[in-house]
Amino acid sequence: MKSNLVVYNTLTRKKEVFEPLNAPFVGLYVCGPTVYSDVHLGNCRTFVSFDLIYRYLLHLGFKVRYVRNITDAGHLEGDRDEGDDKFSKKARLEQIEPMEIVQRYTIGFRDVMQVFNTLPPSIEPTATGHIAEQIEMIKVILEKGFAYEVNGTVYFDVEKYSRDNNYTILTNRNMDDLLANTRELGGQDEKKGRLDFALWINAKPEHIMRWPSPWGWGFPGWHIECSAMSSKYLGDIFDIHGGGMDLAATHHTNEIAQSQACNHSSPAKYWMHTNMLTVNGARMSKSAGNGFLPEELFTGDHPLLTRGYSPMAVRFFMLQAHYRSTLDFSNDALEASDKGFRRLMNACALLDKLNVSEKSDVDIDSIKQRCYDAMNDDFNSPVVIAELFEASRIINSVYDGKSAISAQDLEVLKSLVNNFVFDVLGLKEETSQTDDFSHLMDFIIKLRLEAKSNKDYATSDKIRIGLQEIGIQIKDGKEGSTWSKA
Ligand code: AMP
Ligand code: ZN
Repeated sequence: MKSNLVVYNTLTRKKEVFEPLNAPFVGLYVCGPTVYSDVHLGNCRTFVSFDLIYRYLLHLGFKVRYVRNITDAGHLEGDRDEGDDKFSKKARLEQIEPMEIVQRYTIGFRDVMQVFNTLPPSIEPTATGHIAEQIEMIKVILEKGFAYEVNGTVYFDVEKYSRDNNYTILTNRNMDDLLANTRELGGQDEKKGRLDFALWINAKPEHIMRWPSPWGWGFPGWHIECSAMSSKYLGDIFDIHGGGMDLAATHHTNEIAQSQACNHSSPAKYWMHTNMLTVNGARMSKSAGNGFLPEELFTGDHPLLTRGYSPMAVRFFMLQAHYRSTLDFSNDALEASDKGFRRLMNACALLDKLNVSEKSDVDIDSIKQRCYDAMNDDFNSPVVIAELFEASRIINSVYDGKSAISAQDLEVLKSLVNNFVFDVLGLKEETSQTDDFSHLMDFIIKLRLEAKSNKDYATSDKIRIGLQEIGIQIKDGKEGSTWSKA
């Protein structure tokens, strides 16, 4: 299967024609959320970006196995059991089981993903469900001589690995700079080298989340989970490995080292990284405390917001930036995206109301071609959106009788909208609950007016009093009746 798709590969630092290892099958692995707290909007941006990529690959006819893990174990600051991991810490604070924390935030994450209309992945494996696979992989790394054990903790030997391999192949950083800039973390006195990282961490008896292993009771290091789960479900070498850009320097660098040590190969042919959502130029992150919850955006309950924005307006806002560009969050930018989204949706709603003419004086084929060209050029969603605005302008112009469209072109236009607005960009029509409620109230008021004009005062009073009892006030005036919430 030949495609014209070109993707930017972080590994080679250039755009390459996308040629899957085993077309039409495509293996896609994306590092998923760490579920000890709610996801913020920055996390959502990365998952929405990969949803766009997944959707377009499906649209092109690839059979994609999309694996996105759930990190539900580990996450220490250092490499030794010097305190609780983040799951146990939260569980202790709330006096519940760590797995209750995991369950709560996994459900919350899935809900948010659904609200943003992202397609569910094909497999969503968890770290705690794959301890055996991680232990097996660590055993192989030990056998190959790239790891060593100290007091029940197993470290990856970066210095030994670097003798014959390029440890910083993904980011092209200089090893000396890396050594100079590495923070002092726990376990330094046990490690042979400053850059060594833990594959397995020895756990004290009081540590809640721990498992038996050949090296005693402990828990896996963070990086090994993605290596073990990606190779289990996608094979030792698969097509695309993705995640946020912040993961490239450590997590993905270490994943490559682990796979290379086991299988003499980098796990993925293409590495794709999404850029960061920022707030006033600073990366949105859990640790910086500048994270917005999606809920705060929808309700508008945040000091930086003047009102709430619908999930599709927020999705549209994210797609208006290319996934490799930073995107700065602001109320003004959201306001503009909201307007743009509504303009597009209003035009889509007119599609079925257009009259056709003998001949077209509009060029739909070129718009369609430019949409494919943009997506084939490393998933350039902002250019697709600009083209869809042009399509909206044409729809409005035909509706107003200022332009003419043939039946054949109208079909092309309809499929363009279906393919790009709904399937590829993953947008959908929204009716807000407020709108639904207003329509319902209009209907009730109409019923009451009918009762009144039929002199059926018993019914009209019944409606007025019934509404009053649930806190809705009806006022009759010269212009008709209005309602308000008490
Ligand atoms: P975490 O739950 O912190 O492991 O993050 C889940 C995903 O969100 C990872 O792929 C991160 O790279 C990504 N991510 C974290 N912060 C941001 C941000 N500000 N903008 C975009 N993606 C982010
Ligand atoms: Zn990962």
